[in-house]
Amino acid sequence: MELYTKDLCVRFATRSGDIPAVNHVSLAFSERQVTGIIGETGSGKSVLGLSILGLLQSNASVTGQIFLGERELTALSERELCTVRGREIALVAQNPATSLNPSVRVGRQIEEVFRLAGKSTPDCRRLTLELLRQMAFSDPKQIAGAYPFELSGGMRQRVLTAIAVAARPQWLIADEPTKGLDAVVRNQVYDTFCMVRDQYRVGFIVITHDLLLARKFCERIVVMYCGRVLETNAARELFEHPRHPYTQGLIASLPHLGMKPMAGFSPAFTDQPSGCVFHPRCPYAEARCRHTEPKSIPCGEGSVCCHRYA
Ligand code: SF4
Ligand code: MG
Repeated sequence: MELYTKDLCVRFATRSGDIPAVNHVSLAFSERQVTGIIGETGSGKSVLGLSILGLLQSNASVTGQIFLGERELTALSERELCTVRGREIALVAQNPATSLNPSVRVGRQIEEVFRLAGKSTPDCRRLTLELLRQMAFSDPKQIAGAYPFELSGGMRQRVLTAIAVAARPQWLIADEPTKGLDAVVRNQVYDTFCMVRDQYRVGFIVITHDLLLARKFCERIVVMYCGRVLETNAARELFEHPRHPYTQGLIASLPHLGMKPMAGFSPAFTDQPSGCVFHPRCPYAEARCRHTEPKSIPCGEGSVCCHRYA
């Protein structure tokens, strides 16, 4: 089933004012497709992911809609949403160190998912060991008997992936799966994700600022900035021919291209620029960019939000 958002806005009420974290986002994620959401810290990528899962903090207010096929997720009660979350759309959490229960053996934590799905105790054990083997652990029994602190960051990331796929969801949302991991472990995460994509045939939404992972793993890319979608396209096209000046800057800062960090900073959410939100950092900004917000313009298989393409 297709997953899509229609004019989605998420605002957080805080002491320093109302923060618009996601701004009029309409996106469709196709079944079994791997979509990467990229952008700097604070671009609204994680908030978008969490809003799809219905996991926003209590000070968030959401307008617009999110659909899974015909079902409007934004209209479901928390109880109804609980039957979707984990079973139909699962999260591969951002921080493996805090997302596992530290006092429960790893095997138990995976078995629990099978138990909730109604499997018998011997089946839970067997399926857990099978799943750990599939996650490239050579000694599943040993891993099942270990506590999270006994595992490396990369191993914990694989355990979290196992927990996410155990209920056989159609959709997986991974939030910064390679954050804080070294190059070797990042490659392991990539291998695990490829296996999951191929064996479980899930639709994947990967929220990341690891552009190398996005380029290698994703079929389609969404570029976010200040809570807005500035560009979408097939991954290959986007990395070879980035159209939006922001995307061009991001890609030019890829390490193998000589490390040229983009000038400027993302503006604070409470103080968003008028017109095009990127204009204070844009080398092509002209008068109209300062007062008129550009519309999203279809381009190739995607879209770009910049006056230069109007
Ligand atoms: Fe730059 Fe103007 Fe395009 Fe915004 S609309 S990205 S400021 S050229
Ligand atoms: Mg984030």
